[in-house]
Amino acid sequence: MFRKTRLYTPGPTPLLPAAQFAMAAADLHHRTPEFRALYTRVLAQLKEFVGTQNDVLLLACSGTGAMESSVSNLTSPGDRVLVLTAGKFGERWTALAKAFGCTIDQLDAPYGQTFDLATVNAALKPDTKVVYVQATETSTATRHDIRAIAETIRAVTPEALLVVDGITGLGTTHFDVDGWGIDILIGGSQKAVMIPPGLAYLSVSDRAWAAMESSKNPRYYFDLRKERKNAKNGESAYTPSVALIAGLGAALDYIAGQAGGNLAEGRIALIENAETCAVMTRAALAALGFTVFSNAPAAAATAVTVPEGLDSGAVVKEVKARFGAVIANGQGEMKGKLFRIAHLGFFDYMDTIALIGALELVAHDTLKLPVKLGQGLAAAQEVFASRKPNQALHEQLGEAVVA
Ligand SMILES: *Cc1c(COP(=O)(O)O)cnc(C)c1O
Repeated sequence: MFRKTRLYTPGPTPLLPAAQFAMAAADLHHRTPEFRALYTRVLAQLKEFVGTQNDVLLLACSGTGAMESSVSNLTSPGDRVLVLTAGKFGERWTALAKAFGCTIDQLDAPYGQTFDLATVNAALKPDTKVVYVQATETSTATRHDIRAIAETIRAVTPEALLVVDGITGLGTTHFDVDGWGIDILIGGSQKAVMIPPGLAYLSVSDRAWAAMESSKNPRYYFDLRKERKNAKNGESAYTPSVALIAGLGAALDYIAGQAGGNLAEGRIALIENAETCAVMTRAALAALGFTVFSNAPAAAATAVTVPEGLDSGAVVKEVKARFGAVIANGQGEMKGKLFRIAHLGFFDYMDTIALIGALELVAHDTLKLPVKLGQGLAAAQEVFASRKPNQALHEQLGEAVVA
């Protein structure tokens, strides 16, 4: 049979055709009124997508560049920071804070788990300047409770800044950036916004801008104050990623179009979409004999472990070889033990059912698990058939809008 290549990886994710067309047509110079109009429009859309009154900036880099900027711009050598880590991306915060000479307190949750709030409380010190955390730890497909973490910080060390890597959290989980007090929230282009890698975006609070006035760490390309100054005039400090910005505008139009043109509602539709794909996938894989790895599973992606003695790499290899579908192996120590399937961005019911069908055949034929064909599909169908809109999400949006 033909095998169409399809990405089910948690970044890069499948591309939105409308965004691809917009990128192909983006033959603009960046110091022109045409570009300024595009940039200004996309920055305004992004604010609505993120759901904040804070400034939102775009950087020409992958997500890690924006993570670096939130260390270099906010800290001085010797500043005490708290890193909450539960996987490979949490470990990246520690590496970045180390590179910029911060004094690091690190709170670890085991891979596949999230943080106990009492331990977060205890890890905060009177002089903690910044707390760094992921909204969803993609390496283990775990969701952290940012609202509760933010509340803990505000109660214990209200001066501390909160920086959230929402690179796979944005578009898969709800944030009330201003209400909870998230000082920096970071997103990346190759995740829920359905365009290629190469753009990062971040919201920056007034408290964070104030901290930059006295922070001493070196920065040049990722000088956020310089970007803000230029953004006010519809420009970026250096040559922007023009095509990706055009693609991002088209993707945000598409997301708004899912809710009659309302981007805030469209974001909720995107989150609910990811949640539906995730619950279908979790139910199917559990029915096939895999174990969901996380005790706080994210909607961004699902990670499952393979039964003892089997290699998750064999599943990754076989779904690609037989069906053209690209899923992700575990990262680092988790390689061979688990595989991961993305739900963030441009996935739908059909994509989800198709992959479950493929995984079912691989479980049956390659792993020789005792499954009956149709068993995983049936579990996913049941979940889908009884799925209701997430009322809590709509209510939260209502609250955020009223506030
Ligand atoms: C993808 C991802 C990143 C960013 O990685 P880049 O390769 O720099 O884009 C950071 N954090 C999380 C949680 C991610 O999923």
